[in-house]
Amino acid sequence: MFKTFKFLLHAFLFSLCCLASFNASAANIKNIRVANHADDTMRIVIDISEKNGYKVFTLKNPDRLVIDIEKTSFLDSLKPQFANIKYLKNLRFGKMENGVARIVAEVNFPPKVKKDFFLPPQSGFEWRLVVDVENPKASSYSLNNQAQKNKNQNQYRKPLIMIDAGHGGKDSGAISISGYYEKHITLKMAKELRDKLIKSGRYNVMLTRNDDRALALRQRVQMARNAKADIFISIHADSALNSSAKGLSVYTLSEKASDSEAAALAERENKADAVIGMDFSDKPQDVATILIDLVRRDTMNNSSILADYMVAEMKKNVTVLPNTHRFAGFAVLKAPDIPSVLVEIGYLSNRKEELMLRKPEYRAKLAASMLKALDKLFKNHSIIDK
Ligand SMILES: [Zn+2]
Repeated sequence: MFKTFKFLLHAFLFSLCCLASFNASAANIKNIRVANHADDTMRIVIDISEKNGYKVFTLKNPDRLVIDIEKTSFLDSLKPQFANIKYLKNLRFGKMENGVARIVAEVNFPPKVKKDFFLPPQSGFEWRLVVDVENPKASSYSLNNQAQKNKNQNQYRKPLIMIDAGHGGKDSGAISISGYYEKHITLKMAKELRDKLIKSGRYNVMLTRNDDRALALRQRVQMARNAKADIFISIHADSALNSSAKGLSVYTLSEKASDSEAAALAERENKADAVIGMDFSDKPQDVATILIDLVRRDTMNNSSILADYMVAEMKKNVTVLPNTHRFAGFAVLKAPDIPSVLVEIGYLSNRKEELMLRKPEYRAKLAASMLKALDKLFKNHSIIDK
C-alpha cells in the first residue's frame, strides 16, 4: 500500500531532475518526532513549513494510525525520530499521487486518538501538527503484543492472487463465430495463469471457479474478500460486431468509463448476473458501505499500477488495443480493499484471434506476461502490509 523506503529513495533520485516543477507554495514536512508525553500519551509532532488540511484516522490488521496532510511533501533528508517508544512498532511515510503526504504509525495496540491540533510558529519552531494517542494499559498491551508476535511469524507469506474466470454455467459470455464460448476460454486462461504463478513459487493462488458453474459478480468479489486475497484478476474475452477488431486490453475500475466502447463493454459484462438470474443491482451496496474512502483510493492506485505493468509486459508479446489500459464500471472490480484488474484477453469475434486464444502456447505467453507484471508490482510497491 505504501512505497517502501527503498522505493522512495529511487523515486527521490528520479525526482531530482524535475524539482523545478514542484509547486513552490506546497508545504514541506521537515521532521517527525514521537515521544512519550506523560504516562498515558504518545505524542507525534510533525514539523511542517505551512498549515494545510489534514486528517487523522486508524486502520486495523495490523493496527495503524494514519495522518494525511494535503498538498505536502517530505523534506528529502527527513529521518523520523521515534526510538524507544514502547508502543510504536514502526513509522513510515510517503507521498501519494494526489499530493497528500501520508504518515503511518504502526502500533502494538488499537490506537485511540486523544486530540490533534496545529501549533502556530513559535520559539524557533515552524508550524507543528500534534497528534496525541492514548497509551494502552500495560495489560492490554501485552495481550496485543502477543497477537502481534503471532502475526509477525507469517508476515513473509506469499501474496494470494484470486483469479476469476469470467462467466460460467448458463452464462456463456461472448460466443465466437465458430461457436466457441467465452466461459470456456476464460477458465482455460485462469488455470494457465494459476499454474504459472504457483510454479514461480512466489504466489498462492485461488480461483473463483474451477469448473463450469455460474457465479454472481458480487459473489466473485466476496470470495476474494473472504480469502483476504491481495490481488484480484478477472479474465474475459471480448466480442465486437466489427470482426476485424482485435487486441488485448486491461481494465480498472472507474465510475466514469474512459470511452463509449469501454462503457458498452462494462455494461455487457455486468449483465452476467441477469443471465444467471441473480441481479443484485438494486440491493444496497453492502460492499460499498464498508469501505474507507482512503483505503479505496489506495486500492485504485495500486490497481492502476498493476494494469500499467501488465500492459507494458503484454505489449512486448502480443497485439494490444490502442489505449490498452482503460477504465469502466465493472461490477467485478469493486472490492474496496483489493487491487483488481479485468483483462480482456482478445476478441472472440475475430477469427484469427479466436484461434490464437485457443492455443495453449498463446495463453502461456499471456500468463508469463501477467506473472512478470505481478513480480514488478510486489517488488516496487508494498501491497502487503508488513
Ligand atoms: Zn466477459
